[in-house]
Amino acid sequence: MKALVTVKRVIDYNVKPRVKADGTGVDLANVKMSMNPFDEIAVEEALRLREKGVVTEVLVVSVGPAKAQETLRTALAMGADRAILVSTEDQVEPLAVAKIIKAIADEEAPGLIITGKQAIDDDSNQTGQMIAALLGRGQGTFANEISVEGDSVVVKREVDGGLETVKLALPAVITADLRLNEPRYASLPNIMKAKSKPLATKTPADYGVDTTPRLKTLKVGEPPVRQAGIKVADVDALVAKLKEMGVA
Ligand code: AMP
Repeated sequence: MKALVTVKRVIDYNVKPRVKADGTGVDLANVKMSMNPFDEIAVEEALRLREKGVVTEVLVVSVGPAKAQETLRTALAMGADRAILVSTEDQVEPLAVAKIIKAIADEEAPGLIITGKQAIDDDSNQTGQMIAALLGRGQGTFANEISVEGDSVVVKREVDGGLETVKLALPAVITADLRLNEPRYASLPNIMKAKSKPLATKTPADYGVDTTPRLKTLKVGEPPVRQAGIKVADVDALVAKLKEMGVA
């Protein structure tokens, strides 16, 4: 069974994003970019399934600028077998990504598609669900644990207040949550090996998908600056302060 894993190149999670002076978006000039952290978890899970003999090939796909090649090479260095870059300089929204992944899935017939639960740049939490809907496949979102049993996959899902277990018929779509696993680091020999692994470059048009945005960004701004707090000496002073502020 083949596993298809989606990986997005996003602003690194350690970077504090800066808003462009003209309010049109986030400034990405000279900013460190990395693989979306939930996608690292998705890649790791596919590799573990391959190591267990459940998955035979791990295919990683990214939709994005030419630089997303670096992100795909990182996934190949972790151990993925093959990569496809769907190259576009457009800002691609979840529905367009889902349509592209559907078209690739129609060609590649993966038994499992694993995405991250959300991309930390747009925080949409939509793409995995849209892929499942477009393909008419079962979905196990926010996966905390996965086990393939014959022709189905059992997914423990993180839900409010606990874990929910669902059983999906294969082929299926899974979105990876934080506690699914701890992704491995790529070793130096594997980074070298990844340079010669196959990476195909396509365009959205190759899959008949129009990536023109459906949303228009009106303005991007910094969150309001939080007022500094004050320390009070004791409970009486706290109550007096709350009364003074009219909240008690
Ligand atoms: P989102 O719906 O944007 O929060 O993204 C959820 C997941 O979909 C991400 O963790 C990725 O695995 C995948 N995804 C979203 N956008 C892209 C993209 N441009 N290229 C590859 N995968 C993506």
